[in-house]
Amino acid sequence: MSEYWTPQPAIVTPGDQATSSAPSDAIILFDGKDLSAWESARDGSPANWNVHDGIVTVNKRAGDIRTKESFGSYQLHIEWCIPPMPENFKSQSRGNSGVYMQGKYEIQVLDSFGNETYVNGQAGSVYKQTPPLVNAMRAPGEWNVYDIIYTAPVFKADGTYLYRPRVTVIHNGVVVQNNTEILGTTEYIGFPKVHEHGDGPILLQSHGDPSPAISYRNIWIRKL
Ligand code: MG
Repeated sequence: MSEYWTPQPAIVTPGDQATSSAPSDAIILFDGKDLSAWESARDGSPANWNVHDGIVTVNKRAGDIRTKESFGSYQLHIEWCIPPMPENFKSQSRGNSGVYMQGKYEIQVLDSFGNETYVNGQAGSVYKQTPPLVNAMRAPGEWNVYDIIYTAPVFKADGTYLYRPRVTVIHNGVVVQNNTEILGTTEYIGFPKVHEHGDGPILLQSHGDPSPAISYRNIWIRKL
């Protein structure tokens, strides 16, 4: 009921980006070696995604994972790659994952390279809320980069927002969300909800679609 399909964001071909390394004051969340900073979002047990070749690939049977540490406002860097796959995987069933701010607000991860879907559900959207300003997606098999600047909400005494959460998302060096107000929690069906909360984890989505699993690498965060 909250998805819409037109107008589709313009396609922008991103420039080359050198492989980045973390700045000196960053908290390293994944450096290619292990998931010691992460746990299962289901039950807090060790994160059981597949670490190999300096990257981590989603294990769909293991469910979502989240950071053990909670965060308020921050700058987050995360790289992700959708593997090439047959054309019969379409729309939301093509490389779906997601990065959740404070465990509640999803920035969509999806193959949006020539893969039409509802615009507020494509890569770089605040899922089911705000589409990206443009489509800066790289082709399957290439690495995408999100740099996310997130400002945590402030609540009134009655539990509603005094200041809504806000997010800026830079996708492959291209601004796709510019200090966007987040309206409330990410809901698959229905409109966003408002629940008072404090600091929360970064959560990575293990989506139930049958397409081949995506991978992440080089994840770091700076508290703001
Ligand atoms: Mg998703």
